Amino acid sequence: MDGIVLPNEVKECDVIIIGCGLSGMTAAYEMLKLDPNIKLCLLEAKDRIGGRTLTNEINIGGGQREKFDLGGQWVASSQPDILEILEELNIKTYPQFINGTKIMQVGQGNIIRTYKSDIPSLGSYWGVIELQLFIWKAEKLAKQISIEDPYSWDKAQEYDAMTMETFVRNNARSQSVRDTIQAACRSVIDICILNFRRSSGCDLDRVSALFFLAYANSAGGVMKLLLATENGAQELRVKGGTQQISEILADRIGRENVQLNQPVSAIYQDQTEFITVHTLTGKIFRARHVITSIPPNCVTRIQFSPPLSEDRKLLMDNMPVGHLTKFIITYDKTYWRENGFSGEIVSNGGGPLLKCSTGPISVVYDATTDKNVPALVGFVAGRPGVEWHRQTAEERRSSILACLAEFFGSWALQPTSFTEKVWADEEYNGGCPVCFGVPGVMFTFSALRRPHGRIHWCGTETSTHWAGYLNGAVQSGRRAACEVMKLNGKNVTQLEKLVSRQPSADVDPLYSFPSLFTPIVVSLAVITAFVAVYFF
Ligand SMILES: Cc1cc2nc3c(=O)[nH]c(=O)nc-3n(C[C@H](O)[C@H](O)[C@H](O)COP(=O)(O)OP(=O)(O)OC[C@H]3O[C@@H](n4cnc5c(N)ncnc54)[C@H](O)[C@@H]3O)c2cc1C
Repeated sequence: MDGIVLPNEVKECDVIIIGCGLSGMTAAYEMLKLDPNIKLCLLEAKDRIGGRTLTNEINIGGGQREKFDLGGQWVASSQPDILEILEELNIKTYPQFINGTKIMQVGQGNIIRTYKSDIPSLGSYWGVIELQLFIWKAEKLAKQISIEDPYSWDKAQEYDAMTMETFVRNNARSQSVRDTIQAACRSVIDICILNFRRSSGCDLDRVSALFFLAYANSAGGVMKLLLATENGAQELRVKGGTQQISEILADRIGRENVQLNQPVSAIYQDQTEFITVHTLTGKIFRARHVITSIPPNCVTRIQFSPPLSEDRKLLMDNMPVGHLTKFIITYDKTYWRENGFSGEIVSNGGGPLLKCSTGPISVVYDATTDKNVPALVGFVAGRPGVEWHRQTAEERRSSILACLAEFFGSWALQPTSFTEKVWADEEYNGGCPVCFGVPGVMFTFSALRRPHGRIHWCGTETSTHWAGYLNGAVQSGRRAACEVMKLNGKNVTQLEKLVSRQPSADVDPLYSFPSLFTPIVVSLAVITAFVAVYFF
């Protein structure tokens, strides 16, 4: 292949793990726990480990520096796998700050509204009811879909032929509700709605409705994706950042077993017991088993012999990654808290700005650290993310600050630092936070975890418990470790029990009956009063 230098040695080990993100590191760690003598080779394309976790020290002015997560950052009480790893590594968490007034900009006219309760400000009670009914329906459908094989659902074909956009249009009439769901999905498939966050960094018209519902079910329900309260995806932050998880795991695995700057270019399996793995630097590795944690959108860059099965190829070709740029802005004070705001904004982006069809912001949260460094975190996601990618870094910075000033006041224009991470520019990820399924290919989805000969697959997208999240990365790493160690004759019963845990389906307050009931009663009261005044 182009770029391959002739090899001068072949390194042998028992298992090769490709990719040193959280899933690959977890797979290696769990295998070593089951067999301390196992010989592992971990190959990573980048010059760092951690993959989609990235914790940078930011200069916050006055000679001070502080660590912030530019990749994955939140965990939740409903995410057992990641919490167990954090506990094992003695890494602490702390709650996401959510107290105070929240801001929402959705619907016709891009009006900026504020609200304090869990019920978002959509401009009318009907909007709130409609959103609630939408979530209710999505929740009910999601629960029916098997996470292992979404296509076994009797309505699978119908919902896979539909984009999320169509699903939303069919089930929500008001623009503000549609905007809210769009904002949520852009950031969800990473971050959004009133916390329909963490969307895929993608737009509703690109995602299969079946994929989205199965994705939500892997978290235990749609509302879990949206909330920053207990059990919700944005509930807890990790002291010191999330990249340290992989760093500490690397120490435990042994740094000598981790090779950076080794992009894998080809994997060959023949009738012998060995698989050979080639890297672009010309190195060759041999092992009896391979675990790859490479995200689906990057798998197709690798040459496989024998070739991947048709269903896996079709799936990999049709799981693009979302577009998400993350920004961290630090201030000398938590001005928003002093003014009674939580820091939370959900926005449709407002009107056109520069050459873009909307402003840059989708979602913003308080990002003040456990050491009390005041900060906000936000996302430019989906289509606005792509459009704003064409602007210069300085144009993005000044526009984001100007938008924040419109929401919060002029103090927002005076940060002590501004840092952005454009994940589209990150080689060997090419976007974030997660790869999603486009309509029409979900019949191939069960191929995602199926081994290809002696090649096993992990990575958050392959998870059945919080797929797309840090928890999913850990759970999938554990599952791949089980698969390989079982073949090596090890007793994996305990680990298998952890892997087979089902997502919990706690009822979230927002879609419980009383929260729906309140706006209905108020709306009926308003209508009754109106009718009474008009006719009598
Ligand atoms: C901006 C952002 C915000 C996020 N927010 C959250 C959040 O708040 N909470 C949450 O739970 N999750 C969040 N996530 C998602 C979370 O970070 C990921 O689910 C998780 O880190 C994925 O881990 P992984 O090991 O599956 O994949 P990755 O971390 O992508 O690891 C895969 C590794 O494979 C390597 N690789 C790729 N190709 C090759 C090759 N050819 N050869 C060798 N190596 C290769 C890559 O370099 C990478 O290191 C976020 C992600 C991003 C980017």
